[in-house]
Amino acid sequence: MMNNTVDYQNKTLMAVLAHPDDETFGLGGTLALYAQRGVDVHLVCATRGEVGEIDPEYKETIKSAACLRTQELRCAAEVLGINKLHFLNYRDSGMPGAEANHHPKALAAQPVEKVAAEVAHLIRKVQPDVLLTFDPIGGYRHPDHIAIQRATVQALELAAEKSFQDSEGLPPYQPQRLYFHFMDRSFLKIMVWVLRLTGKDPHRWGRNEDIDLMALTDVDFPTHVKIDYRPVKDLRKKAAACHASQGGAQMNKGLRGFLTWLFGGHHETFMQAYPELEKDPRYKRDLFE
Ligand SMILES: [Zn+2]
Repeated sequence: MMNNTVDYQNKTLMAVLAHPDDETFGLGGTLALYAQRGVDVHLVCATRGEVGEIDPEYKETIKSAACLRTQELRCAAEVLGINKLHFLNYRDSGMPGAEANHHPKALAAQPVEKVAAEVAHLIRKVQPDVLLTFDPIGGYRHPDHIAIQRATVQALELAAEKSFQDSEGLPPYQPQRLYFHFMDRSFLKIMVWVLRLTGKDPHRWGRNEDIDLMALTDVDFPTHVKIDYRPVKDLRKKAAACHASQGGAQMNKGLRGFLTWLFGGHHETFMQAYPELEKDPRYKRDLFE
């Protein structure tokens, strides 16, 4: 719930993610909620989502997936209240084994130091109080999610180092907190159970059937912050509809949408990565507390 001791108007939040749609399907509720409270919300998107499978009805009318998905991201960003988008202009690497893995601009093929230096420059420029990125397994083991997570962890240190020279010569800056967003495991387990019950294979989930949900249930992360985004759930839905080429509208209606409705699960979960917590205390309800 809203924390009265925090002056949100003076706060800045920056999410560092990989593809257009990560901002909505992963932590869109959180971004919209803080934007509504007056927080200055920034999004760093490392690629333009070049490899995302485009729904057939869009294929004939568009030339490039990157162009369409950039537009979809601008639409979602406006709905969610994201103040500024920063693109790193790497290329979507696709899932493991895809040809796009080997493209010279593929995000997952870049040296982590190179990407980290760019993120560190943006940290100094934007000066966020709170930094958000993926968990160490990139949510569902997407190579780009893992790559940008590693770069962001390195960037946090780099931005604060006096010896690091960024491209604009900005002074060192240290965000107060870094959080990893991760999929709530109890929700994940329910999904696996329902998929099995309905005769679907939890090893092959998602529109491209390339997500192994079973392999995610083995890994767990401590919940340090749980954000209840019910006040902005309609905004999140509207933002999902912006990502039409990625089946965004159906996402609201599909199994995930149904389960969210059934379990009233309008929350997003985060692990605090910096400063590191020694024990796992009771979770908080606010990223800025
Ligand atoms: Zn992604």
